[in-house]
Amino acid sequence: MNHSWMLWFNRKKFLSVNLLTEFKKKDLFMAKKAFCQSCGMPIADDSYKGTQANGEFSTDYCIYCYMQGRFVQPELTFDEMVEIGRKGLDNNSMPKMQKWLFKKLYPIQLKGLKRWKN
Ligand SMILES: [Zn+2]
Repeated sequence: MNHSWMLWFNRKKFLSVNLLTEFKKKDLFMAKKAFCQSCGMPIADDSYKGTQANGEFSTDYCIYCYMQGRFVQPELTFDEMVEIGRKGLDNNSMPKMQKWLFKKLYPIQLKGLKRWKN
């Protein structure tokens, strides 16, 4: 086996293991904090919570995604949600590097959410 290839392979393996542990930590973090399970937005308090058909707060979705027991945009595709999120980030005043990173991570975050899991 080519030596440099081996090195590359090992580094790659090391990196992916590290990434996995990072994601596991993130999952724990995300379980504690409430994020909308459709758009990934943090739900800071009840005023951001969507509503169930019976008027109760949704435990999963934000007010922009879910109202009275239904998705506000039921036809929305995964790709469209990624676009919306990225545009939202564009309008955010966070530092450039952070924005770039968030935009990269956004589709990965979305894929783990209830609405997009399957
Ligand atoms: Zn949402």
